[in-house]
Amino acid sequence: MDWLALRRSGSSVVIYGLIVWAVLALSAEQVGSSGRAGFASHDGSPLAMIWPAGGFLLARLLNVQRREAVLTLIAAGLVKWGLHRAYGLDWLGAFVISGLAAAEIGLAAVLLRLRLRIRPDPTRPGALALVLAVSLIAAGFSALFAAEFLYFLKDVSFRALLLDWFASGMMGFVVVTPAVLAFCRSESGERKLLAARNLLVFLPPAFTLFLLLANPTMSGLLFLIFPPLLLIANLLDFNATALSLILTITVICGVSFSGHGPLEHQVAAGLLSRHVEFHLLQLFLLALAVTVYFRAANQAQMVRLRGLLAERVRRFRDSERRYRALAENSRDIIFRVSPDGRRLYVSPAVTEMLGWSVGEQLGQDWRRDVHPADWPAVRVALKLLQAGNDHTVFTYRRRRKDGSYLWVETRVRAVRERAGGRAVEFVATTRDVSVQKEAEEKLNAANAELAALAATDGLTGIPNRRAFDATIETEWRRAQREGTPLALLMIDVDHFKIFNDFYGHLQGDECLKRLAETIRAAMHRGGDSAARFGGEEFTVLLPATSAAGALEVAERIHDTVRDLGIPHELVAAGQVTLSIGVAIQAQRRYGDIATLLAGADSALYAAKRRGRNCTFIVSGPGMVAVAAALPDMVLDQSTANTR
Ligand code: GH3
Ligand code: MG
Ligand code: MG
Repeated sequence: MDWLALRRSGSSVVIYGLIVWAVLALSAEQVGSSGRAGFASHDGSPLAMIWPAGGFLLARLLNVQRREAVLTLIAAGLVKWGLHRAYGLDWLGAFVISGLAAAEIGLAAVLLRLRLRIRPDPTRPGALALVLAVSLIAAGFSALFAAEFLYFLKDVSFRALLLDWFASGMMGFVVVTPAVLAFCRSESGERKLLAARNLLVFLPPAFTLFLLLANPTMSGLLFLIFPPLLLIANLLDFNATALSLILTITVICGVSFSGHGPLEHQVAAGLLSRHVEFHLLQLFLLALAVTVYFRAANQAQMVRLRGLLAERVRRFRDSERRYRALAENSRDIIFRVSPDGRRLYVSPAVTEMLGWSVGEQLGQDWRRDVHPADWPAVRVALKLLQAGNDHTVFTYRRRRKDGSYLWVETRVRAVRERAGGRAVEFVATTRDVSVQKEAEEKLNAANAELAALAATDGLTGIPNRRAFDATIETEWRRAQREGTPLALLMIDVDHFKIFNDFYGHLQGDECLKRLAETIRAAMHRGGDSAARFGGEEFTVLLPATSAAGALEVAERIHDTVRDLGIPHELVAAGQVTLSIGVAIQAQRRYGDIATLLAGADSALYAAKRRGRNCTFIVSGPGMVAVAAALPDMVLDQSTANTR
């Protein structure tokens, strides 16, 4: 019936299965009192020492899917039933015995599969311990029922039946199951079996045979089997150790059956019953199997861990090599810095970029190479790291070996032992950004030039309308903020159209240029600004200037233009003159820029209407009304306000 357990279990299992079976076949008539077929005594004592069939079957159930396991168990039960019928048991007796045996194996399989994956690995100490523990439970449990039943069937004591069933079944599981599981897992079982050093597996059984046959009376010497088996466990793998163990047990059983067992002397002398002899031997074999299996499993575990460690070390070295290659071949400088600023590692790119050798840079404080002018900005960036940020970027000039400086960008990452903890070191990359920096500076210069051009009038070279708009905006807000008056002069050239018509446009342009220069020169204070408002109109903005001050400036402009004396034959004055409209914003939070402009414009037109070559000042809502009149200035509030 046991062939069912062997399917798919690999030829290694077949090899040692055959050995067990050979012994079984030699004692074919031996079916123990409990109905277990197994190693039994030569003199027909109704005892089975080990029930290997149970061990095979349990291993089989642990190695296949659930459906197949159930079918296997049923088939095995039927075969066993048939065997018992053949041995002469009535059909009910055969049914109960085979049913209990199947239930025992089924219980063990279910318990183990609750905790272990399919095809469990007995070379793992945890799995092995579980197999052994469950063996005890399942065999003990089924023994209770089996002994109860057999007690009515046979004329044997209940205690003897209980012990016999339990011990033989448990021994089958403990000795055979781990070995079969291990053999089923190894793919190269046969190949390994033929290796020269595997011949060592025959050492313990041979030694045992020698020990038993040489001196059967010295039963205590049997303990000498432990050292060679443990040696095998240390030297060879789990499978070889299991094979050696099974061979050794086979030898002990075989020798015992043939009447040369280690306790035969005591049995013959009537000191021991055959029963007690077998149970003592079972106890000894149990101790042997458990010790050797655990030693072999621990050894396997150690080998596994060593392999794992070697693999880890190899991977670590590999990645170390890869990263080193990355660092060493990068064009950027890669460096590690200790918390006190000393360089712990510098990649070779430092030589190409800055001229230093790696050795010159190692151990040096990196901050010493930062351009002093850039240090404040760098320090601000570094503060981020102190504040708990993990990285920061800054651009600065870094000293070369020849003393010159190179614009570089450095990215620093803090390495912390735990998130939010103190940085144990910093990893940084430094990139040459001198080309970008140069381009950036050129761009900045071009932008500044462009901005200046955009704000300058092409003809006269003074600020244009756009610049004026921006300036008046700024000055207006400043005046509001500080509560100071803001004066605006709107200037228009008198009879310029006919000047153009008479002297030509080129002369007109020349005239405008000279007037612009003159107007600009008439301003003495830093904040004052003149602009070409458009055509032949100019503006002058005088911050923090009262009406008297504004009129003074207007007067100065009239004077300087008169001194300039640009001829204009077609007008009464005989030279080019200007008309000026003045508006002043004096009250805080009142009016707006448009009102100021409109005021100045109104004043200008009032000045025109009053005969030109004069200044007119206007007051309005929020504007100062000025009564003081200068010689050629006309004050006409009503006119200004209605325009
Ligand atoms: P008034 O202001 O005294 O009333 O007389 P006006 O002749 O100056 O009158 P208006 O403001 O109408 O004339 C402006 C003239 O200024 C028109 C145009 O020929 C001339 N002008 C405006 N811009 C330029 C310029 O950029 N170059 C030259 N040459 N002439 C300009
Ligand atoms: Mg005009
Ligand atoms: Mg004009």
